[in-house]
Amino acid sequence: VASRLKGCLREGDTLARLGGDEFVALLLNPSDVEQQYFALLNAVAHPIRIDGITLFMTASLGACSYPQAVAVDADQLVRQADQAMYHAKQAGRNRFQIFDEVFDHDLRVHNENLERIRKGLTDDEFELYYQPKVNMATGAILGIEALARWNHPERGLLPPSAFLPDIQGSVLEVSFGEWVIDQALADYERLRLNDMALTISINISARHLEKTDFVEYIRSRLGDCSGHQTCPLELEILETTTLDNLDRVSDIIRDCAKFGVRCSLDDFGTGYCSLTYLRKLPVETLKIDQSFVCGITEHPNDVILLKGILDLARSIDRKVIAEGVETLEHGRILLEIGCIQGQGSAIARPMSFKALLEWMKTWHPDPSWENRSAYS
Ligand code: C2E
Ligand code: MG
Ligand code: MG
Repeated sequence: VASRLKGCLREGDTLARLGGDEFVALLLNPSDVEQQYFALLNAVAHPIRIDGITLFMTASLGACSYPQAVAVDADQLVRQADQAMYHAKQAGRNRFQIFDEVFDHDLRVHNENLERIRKGLTDDEFELYYQPKVNMATGAILGIEALARWNHPERGLLPPSAFLPDIQGSVLEVSFGEWVIDQALADYERLRLNDMALTISINISARHLEKTDFVEYIRSRLGDCSGHQTCPLELEILETTTLDNLDRVSDIIRDCAKFGVRCSLDDFGTGYCSLTYLRKLPVETLKIDQSFVCGITEHPNDVILLKGILDLARSIDRKVIAEGVETLEHGRILLEIGCIQGQGSAIARPMSFKALLEWMKTWHPDPSWENRSAYS
């Protein structure tokens, strides 16, 4: 086999037998290197006759290139080629696989990030911020949404976009979701003790929601609050989450409703939810995505679109709340077209629990929002 492999080399190339059935080839000419891979594989796959017996063998070839975007040493190159060879074996043998440095780099960064997040959770570096949802006509506070933040000791206060992408789809997804639930419940208890009991909306990730014991977990943490005035928790489910698994998600929402936990459909309008789907989905509230709100002060067509969404919601008997109420003008227009519930920086930005308590003492809607709504 070694002499056959040697026959596939060009001038300057090197072949080494590292041990057992493993060879390493250093190929200098990158222009038609794939031809050489095929030649090496064919050289092995060609039957071998020994003492009247015909032996059939195949090889699996892993390859990497040099130089790379980051500095690599010889040991790393061998490791990369080894990893690619392993993939070639998994893919069915008698083939070559090229090491993907971008994928490998991303994977390493992802694993490091996850490890750091895990440590952050243990070290209490995460915190829930809260953003109020209000009736813009009367000023009544309807609830608060929990939004995760990371008080990173070196990088400062980080928004979800800095850590959720690593968490989602990882082993930490469910434990992070459970941390959010526990923290929200602890904060709810503190609110209750201050006579300010308000339902806390939490954002539930797809995987967590669809975990087999999710409903049981929520029930065990909450008990039955169907008879209570305020249930501690409400769930926000992304429209995109429901699309893949309508029946299952609908069952979960219905089961939660039995013990008083309500659900709203988050980022509504961004997930191509069909009307048939929407009618079947037993959510109580549609949260209109901020992208439908931000343009209403400048583009009359956006107001028409928003009115259409409101009519649609009314016709299927769903409540509506607008996200991204950034300016007083946004609030005024929303009230005029009958969207009473709002959330956004014109009302309050997401804030720490302590800041929320202060905010609640002084909040009142802007005078320009008074008498704006024909629907309040
Ligand atoms: P979301 O649930 O749609 O939350 C609303 C987002 O809009 C929040 O971003 C909020 O800070 C931001 N926002 C509030 N008011 C305004 C406004 O007036 N204008 C604009 N442009 N934005 C406003 P944030 O906190 O960065 O969260 C982003 C997303 O991350 C959330 O979107 C939610 O999907 C997800 N998320 C946050 N916390 C959690 C969590 O604990 N668990 C899970 N699974 N997802 C979370
Ligand atoms: Mg949300
Ligand atoms: Mg949203």
